Amino acid sequence: MLLPDSIQSLITALERLPGIGPKTASRLAFHLLRASDEVSQDLAEALANLKSRTAFCQDCFNITEAGRHLCEVCESTERDSSVICVVEEALDVLALERTHGYSGKYHVLQGVLSPIEGIGPDDLKIKPLLARIARGGVKEVILATNPSMEGDATALYLRGQLESLGVKVTRLARGLPVGGDLEYADQNTLLRALSGRQEMN
Ligand SMILES: [Zn+2]
Repeated sequence: MLLPDSIQSLITALERLPGIGPKTASRLAFHLLRASDEVSQDLAEALANLKSRTAFCQDCFNITEAGRHLCEVCESTERDSSVICVVEEALDVLALERTHGYSGKYHVLQGVLSPIEGIGPDDLKIKPLLARIARGGVKEVILATNPSMEGDATALYLRGQLESLGVKVTRLARGLPVGGDLEYADQNTLLRALSGRQEMN
């Protein structure tokens, strides 16, 4: 083998990450090799703590600190519990929070419907969402899945599921780049999409 095992195994591990090809993986591995001990130790520590020190909110499935039952948003008494914004990933919660234009609650699906990848409704946090709404007090559900094929299909599916529950169902306005990711949209675009949301019918 051309490379020592320790480097090769790091490259292989990095290559499994989204958006990282063999070249980037090698570049990162060699960068870490040259960098100070502190850089790699900090990274190793952060990775080791990633799973052990985080948990999912039992209400909305956003990320929270390990040992906590609810996330900050769900715990807050200042947030409007009558509006739930449904997003694909916890990163989308961060993106929407950065706009400072939303004061309702969230629900993180932890993915998106994708027949190609074999991801069906039961693989997402859809049942807990319906249960949350059935508990009452919710007036509007904003479907803020990404403006992609899967995101749109997921929104359509959810609209069907929500139909009988007597809540207003809205979808983020167009204007977000089609096929794009909420998390990469700039704050103004996201804010406009949020305030221009339209009822799905
Ligand atoms: Zn929560």
